[in-house]
Amino acid sequence: MRLLIASKNRGKVREIKSITKGKLEIISPIDLHLNISILEDGISLKENALKKALTYYRATGICTLGEDTALEVDYLDGRPGIHSARFSGGGDDENRRKLLDELKEANDRSARFRTVMTLVLRDDWIEFFEGILKGKISCVEKGNNGFGYDSIFIPAGYNKTLGEMEDWEKNEISHRSRAIKKVLDFLQREIEVL
Ligand code: IMP
Repeated sequence: MRLLIASKNRGKVREIKSITKGKLEIISPIDLHLNISILEDGISLKENALKKALTYYRATGICTLGEDTALEVDYLDGRPGIHSARFSGGGDDENRRKLLDELKEANDRSARFRTVMTLVLRDDWIEFFEGILKGKISCVEKGNNGFGYDSIFIPAGYNKTLGEMEDWEKNEISHRSRAIKKVLDFLQREIEVL
């Protein structure tokens, strides 16, 4: 079965390919030479994930998976949350720096990654899945692997950041892998494609 990932983020597509381990033929907008820009202006992860998946599904007719992820920090009352990508107004480096700066005085550094995935199988058949990874924000950046906030996020039960983990190690526990495993279970159970 072919599954289009509604994201131009190569890091995410690579992760999803590795997690699904050849069970699905994963394709990206880049493979299809699609250049669609989507304004992520929803008020929830679900709304953004749905918008991404439906836009690509309608452009291609291919079964599409949209996803949106937020980093929720308790000390900041859940921020950056839905605004995680544009937290600082700059790129990933600036986002991480701003977050460490806002947590300088924090006594509680607990946080979680939350991913919502939307699977559009047909215009009238849409399913939602969620994956959560609990942990805390480190005091300094560590590790060069991964992307986004990986180098400042320490998963619960570990003493290293996601940025210090090998790809396979992150993929065993990540919010994205938890959500995609639910997608795979669903496909196996409901439409027996795997
Ligand atoms: P989006 O889902 O691509 O909109 O991502 C929202 C923000 O979270 C962006 O700043 C991403 O870099 C970051 N992000 C998404 N997934 C991950 C992850 O697995 N690790 C670290 N940062 C992530």
